[in-house]
Amino acid sequence: MERVTHWINGKPWGEPAARHGEVFDPTTGEVAAHVDFATATDVDQAVQAAAQAFPAWSRTSLARRTTILFRFRQLLLEHADEIAATVSAEHGKVRSDARGEFDRGLEVVEFACGIAHLLKGEFSENVATNVDTYSVRQPLGVVAGITPFNFPAMVPMWMFPLAIACGNTFVLKPSEKDPSASIMLAELLAEAGLPDGVFNVVHGDREAVEAVLDHPQIAAVSFVGSTPVARHIYETAARNGKRVQALGGAKNHMVVLPDSDLDVAADAAVSAGFGSAGERCMAISVVVAVDPVGDDLVERIRERAAQVQVGPGTDPASQMGPLISAAHRDKVASYLDPERTGGGTVVLDGRGRTVDGHAGGYWLGPSLVDQVRPGTPVYDDEVFGPVLSVVRAASYDEAVEIINADTRGNGVAIFTNDGGMVRRFRMDVTAGMMGVNVPIPVPMSFYSFGGWKDSLFGDLSIYGPDGVRFYTRPKVTVSRWQEHSSVDLGFPTNQ
Ligand code: NAD
Repeated sequence: MERVTHWINGKPWGEPAARHGEVFDPTTGEVAAHVDFATATDVDQAVQAAAQAFPAWSRTSLARRTTILFRFRQLLLEHADEIAATVSAEHGKVRSDARGEFDRGLEVVEFACGIAHLLKGEFSENVATNVDTYSVRQPLGVVAGITPFNFPAMVPMWMFPLAIACGNTFVLKPSEKDPSASIMLAELLAEAGLPDGVFNVVHGDREAVEAVLDHPQIAAVSFVGSTPVARHIYETAARNGKRVQALGGAKNHMVVLPDSDLDVAADAAVSAGFGSAGERCMAISVVVAVDPVGDDLVERIRERAAQVQVGPGTDPASQMGPLISAAHRDKVASYLDPERTGGGTVVLDGRGRTVDGHAGGYWLGPSLVDQVRPGTPVYDDEVFGPVLSVVRAASYDEAVEIINADTRGNGVAIFTNDGGMVRRFRMDVTAGMMGVNVPIPVPMSFYSFGGWKDSLFGDLSIYGPDGVRFYTRPKVTVSRWQEHSSVDLGFPTNQ
């Protein structure tokens, strides 16, 4: 049985683990590997390695840091297919989708390669007679990242490239469900020449997370995962004096206005609703059909969804893989039960979907529930699977009211050909990322990613310019160079 272990101080951890978990192959339901679960003592070892590496790394020139990041980028490209295959094997998503998440993570590495430009400070000459003022941004120290199962390569890459480019050292606690990609990234960072201790990985569950939150030498925590855990991370880490950004769950709505092209909208709803089996924080989970397009749109979505090829990620014909676990599959499927649809009509039922030769896989076919209303479990809960809801709205105003009443505000999309309505929607809607005829509006790496309301706890979004702000703190210097001085007990004023 393969053993996935921690990566501490530039090498795999050599000690026996007190606890471990199982990593499943979601296409067969069989155990594929064991993953070590870190105790507080193990987490401390990683933090000590990171703390020892910090003084030298934070003083390493920007030119040297950039050289390592460029080498890392090159190595990533050389190992792209291997990483995508590992992500696909442990998560279940199809290979092309795994390669897509890899590419979006790579983008952040490329952004971090420009760190010399991103860290430029400000300088004001002669703010008072003979006095200059300037500001620089300096690293925080040891920072930690805690990441979810659904993007085992991309979400860690949302965090550590900028964190280490800014001069911090890093401890990653990836999802215990698909832990191997993080170790591949660690190996490539080492091969790129990153000094030992700058990047460390500890695997585990809640016990490891609590050890990170309680560790006095960790200065900041980035978290991506579900809303209840994000809230807990935010509150605990902040109480312990850490800087924290905690990205939570989502319920992304896609509004279809009557003037939109319904084929375009139906293609988008199916792609964004069922891609990665709906296990994306930016998946469309609710289509809001504005009268009178509902019946027509639902039929077009149903036709397309029924044709989605479900199968193992290794098969190039597959468009959608299995879910992450049997328990999650059963939970997602339960949202098709009458007590959870709350009067909604199941127009496509993916329960009972089987895949030849993969009887034990965690399969659930695309499912569509029409006439869903807020206040029902299928609407209120983050389903996080291939169950797409359709809510009918009488007007644009009602559509916006429904969306804005929701507690989450990650992504939102509007489908229309009316530029004026787009402008109105941008001003009206309470979500952090908006797509116009684009169902999954994930910002490029030179913008930042973050939702509103219960989709992000903290002040700064992740990666992009906010990432640089999050992983650095400003220092302002006021300086005077002059030959003569005198004693003056007055408060300094600008003259
Ligand atoms: P999760 O919240 O269960 O787990 C995330 C991380 O927290 C994992 O590393 C896990 O080990 C740890 N964890 C889990 N339960 C914990 C607990 N009780 N105490 C402390 N730590 C705990 O999330 P998941 O199921 O791995 O991922 C799916 C969720 O992540 C969805 O809700 C999805 O919307 C969200 N997500 C959000 C974004 C975003 O950018 N907003 C991106 C990706 C995923």
